[in-house]
Amino acid sequence: VSQLHSPLRLTLDGDALVANWRWLQRQSAVAACGAAVKADGYGLGARDVAMRLANAGCRDFFVATWAEAAALEDWTGGASVSVLHGVGEEDMATALASPARPVLNTPAQVKRWREAAGGRPCDVMVDTGINRLGLSAAEATSGLLDGLAIETLISHLACADEDVVANERQRRAFAELQGQVQAKRLSLANSAGICLGSAYAFDLTRPGLALYGGVPRREAEGQIRQVARIEAQVLQRRRVEAGEGVGYGGSFVAERTCELAILNIGYADGYLRGFSGAGRARTASAFLPVVGRVSMDLTAICVDDARELSEGDWVELDYDLPSAAAQSGLSQYEVLTTLGSRSDRIWI
Ligand SMILES: *Cc1c(COP(=O)(O)O)cnc(C)c1O
Repeated sequence: VSQLHSPLRLTLDGDALVANWRWLQRQSAVAACGAAVKADGYGLGARDVAMRLANAGCRDFFVATWAEAAALEDWTGGASVSVLHGVGEEDMATALASPARPVLNTPAQVKRWREAAGGRPCDVMVDTGINRLGLSAAEATSGLLDGLAIETLISHLACADEDVVANERQRRAFAELQGQVQAKRLSLANSAGICLGSAYAFDLTRPGLALYGGVPRREAEGQIRQVARIEAQVLQRRRVEAGEGVGYGGSFVAERTCELAILNIGYADGYLRGFSGAGRARTASAFLPVVGRVSMDLTAICVDDARELSEGDWVELDYDLPSAAAQSGLSQYEVLTTLGSRSDRIWI
């Protein structure tokens, strides 16, 4: 928290974060439950997230890049950090000086690590159907990996949030690699994959979204708690007469006299234009709809139902991830990761 007053604050609930991890851990059955903390902990602060989860017993963290791994380095102690994007030529010096492991994705990465790392442990990604990163199953079983010290063999589900046969097909393709590739542990499931059942958990799961309050599938409904709440200060309260427009383009025109509050939040804060005319703020007793277009730094809400709300008061935007995603047309992932570059982050 900076010394200067910020008229926008992100409140982060550490107990909810840990409770979500514990639920995901129970769903992972006998598998260990790790945590994806890439993209700065999905926008909430990777270090703050990882420290809280490590205190709760989480031992395996996943980031995208070496810069993200470096941001965790000073506290990680015994915890394991895996770098999902592997190791490029330009990363080698950093990687060799880091306690984190690369997740090797390509034959070139395998060769690079084998030649330079002197038998140091690594992880390996195998593609079983998402066609994103990873070796093919044929490459993985070709002898390419012989002699590598593979800590975790990883694959990633493409459609775990849907009920489709592709999930079982990927699970089976991954299970077939057991015994064919020498690795200490196998890991397949993200948040949605954990909800598919313990057959998907293997030895280690890698939830991200659900840790932070996302509900990837109906099995998680009522189990996952909201972690991030966003509150903005009212900068001005004003009356709009019938027939007047509000905001850029005048996309909202008042049908009758109404009262507005202008909030200190806009798309540059991650409250994107999809919330225009669709988002809502909440008080203890009412939902207050966003009217007109969200601007870069400002958003108008109708406060006819909140007579007491005045200049300088704080208002919570409705940022429960499933409902915020429904309001904005964004995915829960986008709603979460775009938040908060200009707000104070306050852990409670
Ligand atoms: C981001 C990511 C995860 C976490 O996925 P969620 O859907 O957020 O739970 C797990 N594994 C890999 C490889 C990822 O890229």
